[in-house]
Amino acid sequence: MERSNGGQNVKWALLGASTIAGQYMVSAIRAQTDGAVRWVVSGKAERARAFAQAHRIERWSTSVEEALEDQAVQAVYISTTNEKHYPLAMAAIGAGKHVLCEKPLAMDAAEAAEMVSAARSAGVTLAVNHHLRSAGSHKAIRALITSGALGRVLSLRLFHAVHLPEHLRGWRLDNPSAGGGVIMDLTVHNADTVRFLLQEDPESVIAETATSGMGAGVEDSAMSVWTMPSGAMVFSHESFTHPFTESGIEVHGTQASVFARGVMAQEPLGRIELVSKQGRGEISFDAAEIYGSVIEDFQSAVARRASPAATGTDGAKSLMVARAVHDAARTGARQTINYGEIE
Ligand code: NDP
Repeated sequence: MERSNGGQNVKWALLGASTIAGQYMVSAIRAQTDGAVRWVVSGKAERARAFAQAHRIERWSTSVEEALEDQAVQAVYISTTNEKHYPLAMAAIGAGKHVLCEKPLAMDAAEAAEMVSAARSAGVTLAVNHHLRSAGSHKAIRALITSGALGRVLSLRLFHAVHLPEHLRGWRLDNPSAGGGVIMDLTVHNADTVRFLLQEDPESVIAETATSGMGAGVEDSAMSVWTMPSGAMVFSHESFTHPFTESGIEVHGTQASVFARGVMAQEPLGRIELVSKQGRGEISFDAAEIYGSVIEDFQSAVARRASPAATGTDGAKSLMVARAVHDAARTGARQTINYGEIE
């Protein structure tokens, strides 16, 4: 499906010959009326060349500078391993490019704060690919909450235990310096989901982690409980090692509960039910391709000089929640989150 992007002709450079770039983002860019992929940059020439050939991209390089020097490139999509997000984003911002960065935005809050501030000073858009808030299912849940249908929200439970696919069992499972571990992978998504649904920032967290069959030197499972300013309780579960479970979100209010199953996904899947004293009913939602919506929103934000769906600040805050979960599990002590650095 082709989408309109407000008449902007946006040429992209992909920094990282990654699985997600190849599986979803090249086609998501090309689904826009004027979105074009001009470069792919990889640390290895052979991988860059093979990626460019497989996806019919005109230019490839092992030099980030070469792609950034190209005046025709307006936007950069960063999907390397996590420790490279910060230096690559800073280089792209320095070259005046708009940046869509993968989650987690950076490795720590200080890096994230610097990225947000640099983008602001340079007048470029910095967005993070927290794609779930662009999913029709998540928007439908948020609409139910904001409409008042649930009454006062008492609690929210997130089920994000998955079975990590074979082809992704690399750095995520054994490389903490590349940002491996389930917290940097999935807790950041849960943090953004909670912030998006409740429109408030977690205040403090307690947590436990485990290594339950896949992680080597990093956690592969985590459970945490978060305190929200409104008083709503949040429970968040993430894992790489669960073959038979289903993802989901439950939001429980004084007037109704939402049960959403299969909605923590890369595809626009799942089913949402609302239960109240009127009974149980299915809630319909827009099943548009999610990453296409992310790119459409990003290009439109650039064209209109408006905020993208998930801003650099959103990425920084979800990272801070994830780091707090990590620290809470490591120390056994409640962690209070101070967002001061990135407000
Ligand atoms: P990959 O492991 O596929 O790619 C990460 C990097 O690893 C690439 O940039 C590439 O380096 C290198 N690489 C890729 N394939 C190979 C290979 N066969 N052998 C050796 N090295 C290889 O990562 P993902 O696509 O799973 O994740 C990339 C980023 O995207 C992460 O930050 C992750 O958190 C995020 N992500 C986000 C999702 C979302 O829904 N928002 C979903 C999935 C991932 P080089 O560029 O140097 O070639």
